[in-house]
Amino acid sequence: MRRKLVAANWKMHGSRAVIEELIPAIIEGVGGVSADVAISPPFVYLEAAGRALQGSAIALGAQNVSAEASGAFTGEIAADMLRELACRYVIVGHSERRALFGEDDALVVRKAVQVLRCGMTPVFCVGETLAQREAGATLAVVGSQIGALLGALSSAELLRCVIAYEPVWAIGTGLTATPGQAQEVHAFIRGRCAEQGAADVRILYGGSVKADNAAELFAEPDIDGGLIGGASLNADEFTAICRAAE
Ligand code: PEP
Repeated sequence: MRRKLVAANWKMHGSRAVIEELIPAIIEGVGGVSADVAISPPFVYLEAAGRALQGSAIALGAQNVSAEASGAFTGEIAADMLRELACRYVIVGHSERRALFGEDDALVVRKAVQVLRCGMTPVFCVGETLAQREAGATLAVVGSQIGALLGALSSAELLRCVIAYEPVWAIGTGLTATPGQAQEVHAFIRGRCAEQGAADVRILYGGSVKADNAAELFAEPDIDGGLIGGASLNADEFTAICRAAE
């Protein structure tokens, strides 16, 4: 039985004051929820967020990590450092990192390997652009992104990952994949992982998930929860999404 996971990605939003207000409200709102819940604030707020989450069941996550273990890499953050701050999840290969910061599959896989090495869970993001979907290339694109991960990990390592299917055209746009569109890609990803002995890997959907569409997405057989951007900055909205994962 795969446990559902709802993971917040706060991107480059928030401030110390916002976090001090938002985290207690989320802790209160998700009390008793059976799904796993995680919050990924910007790096500089990880320590404060970790303190605020202490004693709650909500896990701490980071939004990015270096592909290197340590060394002269100015401005980078190593996986060991995130582990030291008690991070449990690390998002790698978000489409914004791929599109705006030139991250390719090889780099994203190296990041996932660093996260695994440090005993944390990579949230490995994949997804097609609108042009790729319109060209009928969705499964080819996602298959190639997933193939890079499959080629680098054993089945035991794969089972320690979370995969997030996030169609680029749905991120922050208000456009959501229909449950059927999302399920088709999730089933495809699960099939590829199953070939490598990892059918039970958790696969999240991300892309304009809101309180009013979460339940129908999470009801699909291969959707194990969500990676939530904009809606995770509102405690009531995020809490309702977490409850939809029950
Ligand atoms: C994301 O950034 O991972 C995301 C899914 O954003 P949004 O929910 O705002 O579309």
